[in-house]
Order: sequence, then structure tokens, then C-alpha cells
Amino acid sequence: MNAPEILLKDTLFLADTHEVVNVSRELVDYNSYLQDAALQEAVRREGAAWAQDDLTAFGNLTGSADYLALGVLANRYGPELETHDRFGNRIDLVTFHPAYHALMKTSIEHGLHSSPWTDPGPGAHVARAARTYMHTQVEAGHGCPITMTFAAVPSLRTDPGLAKVWEPRITARVYDPRNVPDARKQGLTIGMAMTEKQGGSDVRANTTRAYPIGAEGPGEAYELVGHKYFVSAPMCDAFMVLAQAPGGLTCFLLPRWRPDGTRNPLQVLRLKRKMGNVSNASSETELRGALAWMVGEEGRGVRTIIEMVAMTRFDCMVGSAAGQRAAVAQALHHCSIRSAFGKVLNQQPLMRNVLADLVLENEGALALTMRVARAMDNRADRHEDLLVRLCTALGKYWICKRTPNHAYEAMECIGGSGVMEDGPFPRLFRESPVNAIWEGSGNIQCLDVLRAMQKTPEVIAAFFHEVAKARGASATLDRWVGALHKEFNDHADVEYRARDLVDRMALAIQAAVLLQHAPTCVADAFCASRLAAGGHRNYGTLPRGVDCAAIIERATPRA
Ligand SMILES: Cc1cc2nc3c(=O)[nH]c(=O)nc-3n(C[C@H](O)[C@H](O)[C@H](O)COP(=O)(O)OP(=O)(O)OC[C@H]3O[C@@H](n4cnc5c(N)ncnc54)[C@H](O)[C@@H]3O)c2cc1C
Repeated sequence: MNAPEILLKDTLFLADTHEVVNVSRELVDYNSYLQDAALQEAVRREGAAWAQDDLTAFGNLTGSADYLALGVLANRYGPELETHDRFGNRIDLVTFHPAYHALMKTSIEHGLHSSPWTDPGPGAHVARAARTYMHTQVEAGHGCPITMTFAAVPSLRTDPGLAKVWEPRITARVYDPRNVPDARKQGLTIGMAMTEKQGGSDVRANTTRAYPIGAEGPGEAYELVGHKYFVSAPMCDAFMVLAQAPGGLTCFLLPRWRPDGTRNPLQVLRLKRKMGNVSNASSETELRGALAWMVGEEGRGVRTIIEMVAMTRFDCMVGSAAGQRAAVAQALHHCSIRSAFGKVLNQQPLMRNVLADLVLENEGALALTMRVARAMDNRADRHEDLLVRLCTALGKYWICKRTPNHAYEAMECIGGSGVMEDGPFPRLFRESPVNAIWEGSGNIQCLDVLRAMQKTPEVIAAFFHEVAKARGASATLDRWVGALHKEFNDHADVEYRARDLVDRMALAIQAAVLLQHAPTCVADAFCASRLAAGGHRNYGTLPRGVDCAAIIERATPRA
């Protein structure tokens, strides 16, 4: 044997360091509908059983490995802005990775931006929410323009003339990302530009001005001059914008191109450098005499755009509940494979406590979201309409705010690899605070709940009527609701106490929905952990007697 041969053999021997065992595998190629018992139950009970087949097919797509990869790519290669072409002409062009366009195309072709408007009826909002829930688990960022397009319709309808021209193309199931005038497109997307530097929550501080070009009033043309500090998805074909008209803050529809085929001067200054929500381009823009048509009454801009805002808040509930599902599905999957100290992790008593607790959070979030979706399908009923008014604010506040810590705790279930950028958790974690902050941050939602109660006191009766549907099912909930009743009689410092009040209302209504419809093991554990004395602390503090195995079993996706 000569020397080089000895070296080669030794190297091969030394390189064989270990066998890869006891590690997880990707959660792919599973049906994200059929593997989600809570989602299927919610769809059936809230009126969308007719959509089963469609949702099953959609779940197959959204759980497939190839499709899940689109979500990774759309965030790894984020959008880029080109303000000018090489000759110096303004182009205000944002380019996206093809994966982003593929996600947009699927969303639009499946009506995530429009189905309740084009095909209203029992379960329409519920079915759309279910599809959005599954698609958001693949990728959240592209959902921003989808939501804004969906949400624009009720506000746009306040001007029947504009709605007649725009709505058919806004609701069409055609995705056309070309940077060309809307007249050349069959399908359009809509953005929203309210926030300015000096005031986001308080839009009354807006300084953007609207000047009439000729005749004044609803449906008439104006030119807008000012800045907008957050304009997401600036490649949308038109934007709902708030600006100061002579008669006060007013809503406008502003197209990206003028009807004569020239560029409307909505100039994108730069894209935001966001910690999460990377696939979605969010921009700072200037309006330099941009053409726009007045929507709704002059001086009633907030009232006009509020319907759009209510819809986007609902989608924040769907989106954050979906973020929770994505996180807990990963944690459950991992802990069904990985062993430590002689047992698979989901058999370790303390890990069972953590996993079951994470599942309960998601069950509560989904149950409330889908209950509100049914209310949206039945707004002709006064009780349901009042629920929509109250619960889009209450639910947006509570569910979105619960999500970041949920994402973090699910990440910890994976251990060290949970922190790594080649897994799903960094994206889930960085996405998790966004819904809580935009479309009205936490305090704003709580103040909106108070406003609803002051302006429309019937919402209080509607709330108690809704939670009373579960009366007698749990002594813990009955006590909780009794204490809440007393809170409503105490009007002192109500603004200071708003978070405390809304927290307790949110938990009550989540518990009531679960007690009526969820398996006993879920509903009882939810009440025991969230409503009993001491309240909910860290995840993994479920009291004795909870059937963790059953809660975990029903939620664990099988790939
Ligand atoms: C990723 C991203 C994309 C966005 N895209 C868009 C978009 O497309 N279009 C758009 O118009 N906007 C967009 N926004 C802006 C977003 O809606 C605002 O940031 C949000 O409404 C808060 O406004 P602000 O940033 O000015 O904060 P502020 O209004 O200054 O609020 C700061 C804090 O003060 C609290 N606060 C405010 N008033 C009160 C009060 N009276 N009592 C107690 N607390 C109060 C708020 O809850 C918040 O926590 C986007 C934001 C983000 C993060």
C-alpha cells in the first residue's frame, strides 16, 4: 500500500462523523384544510359547508411543497424600486420576484379579493376567510394588496357612479401586474393612502390638500398635493386617499395613471426597510397635483373610508389567526418527531402543556374570527351588524396582540434550529407584530370599542346577548361575564381602563363561541386557563386536569 492510499482511507473514515437521527423534517405535502379540524368545524358551523370541496382542493395546493416554496422566495428576494428609467424619465416602478406574482395570481383567481361581493350569500365571507387563512400560512405579505382590494369595495360603493366604472374590474378574477393605464386592464388592485408623517392614528392631522379642477362635490375631479408616509403596494392601479378638501377631510379615489394615458404624479420616493412583511412593498410617496375623484361626502372622509378600514381590520384577525396556525402547526409537527430524555417531545408532560396551550390560543382566535365572518354574511340582521361593528375592533386588538408571543413560544418548541433563517420561524416572528400596528394600533382599537359603545349603545346589549348563548355551560364564564357587567356600570377612568375592559370582553366572547361549538376538552381548557383566577400567564401554565393529548392530537398536521 502506498502513502496516498492510506491518507484517502483515513480521510474517509474520519469524515464519517455521525448518522443524522432524531431530527425533524419539513412540514410539506399535506392538506392544510383536511389537516385542520378546527378550521373544518368552523367552516361547517358558520355557514360555508357548501365550500368543502373547493376548500379541500385549496388546502392541497397551499400545503404542497412547491407552493410553500413560493412564500420563501417572495420574502428572500424582496421588491425593488426604480424611480427613473435609464434616460431619466420617472417610472415609479416596483419590481417583484415571480413568486410574489404567483401568489397574487392565485389569490385573485380564487377570489380572495372579491368573492363575497361577486357571490354574496350564506357563508360567502366564511369561505373567503377560510381560503385567506390557508393562503396566509403560505405567505402573509402579498395579502396586503389583496385585502385592500377586497376592502375598498364597500367604501367605493358610496359613489355609485365610480363603483359602476371600477367595481367590475376590481372584483374580476384577473391578475394583471403590468405597469399600464387601468383602461388597458381587465383586473385591478386597490391600495390605501391615509397615513402622513405628522399623524397616522389621528388622520385629522392630514395636510394633503385637494383642489377642485372644475365642478366640486362627490364624483368630481380634484388635484391632490401632499405626502403620504406609508403607501403599501404602490403598484396598485388606484388608491383610496384621504385629503383636506375645502370642506374638510375627504376620501378620494386616485388612479396611478390618468385617463389620458399619462402618468398620474403619485411619485414613490423610497421603499420602507421593514423588519418583516418583506414581500410587500411599502413606500413613501408624494402627490404632486395627482388627479383623484371625490368618494362620498366632502368633509366626511373618515366616515367614507371606515367601511374599508373595518374590512382590513377583519383581515388582520384572519391573518394573525393564520400566523398562529402556521406557528403551532410547525411546533406540533416538530414535537411529534423529535425525542429528548427518552421520549418524543409531545409525550413529555411539560411540553404537552405548552403545545396544548398554543393550540388553545389558535382555537380561540379562529373561533372568534369565523364567528365574525358569519356576522359579516348576515348584516341585514341588526344583531349581526352590531357584532361586526364591535368585534372587528375588539378581535383585531386581541388576536393580533396575542400573536407575537405565540410565534416566539412556538419557535422555542423547535429549540435552537427554530431561530435559524433557513426555517420558517424568523419570517413568522417578524411578521407577527405587523397586524397589531397597522390599520389602527392596539390603543386605537380599544378606543374604537369605547366609541362604538358610546355612539351605538346597542352594541353592549348585542355583546351580552352573544355571550349569553353559552350561559350555564361554564360556571367560570358565567362568573366572568357577571364581573364584566359590573365593569360596564363603572364609567370612571374608562379610557384609562380600556385595554383591561377589551381584554376581558375578547376572552368572554372567545370562550362563549368555543363552549357552544368546540370539543369539550378545548372549551373547558380555554376557560380554565384564561378565565379562572390568576388569568393566563406564560404558555405552558394550563392547570391540572386538561386533556392535553386530545387537544394536541386534533391539531397536529400529518404530512
Ligand atoms: C408595514 C406597514 C405598512 C403600512 N401601510 C400603510 C398603507 O398602505 N396605507 C396607510 O395609510 N398606512 C399604512 N401604514 C401606517 C399604519 O396604518 C400606521 O403606522 C398606524 O395607523 C399608526 O400610525 P402612526 O405610525 O402615525 O403612529 P401614531 O398615530 O403616532 O401612534 C403611535 C402610538 O400611539 C398610540 N396612540 C395614538 N393615539 C392614542 C390615544 N389617543 N390614546 C392612546 N394611545 C394612542 C397608537 O396606538 C400607537 O401605539 C402602514 C404601517 C406599516 C407598519
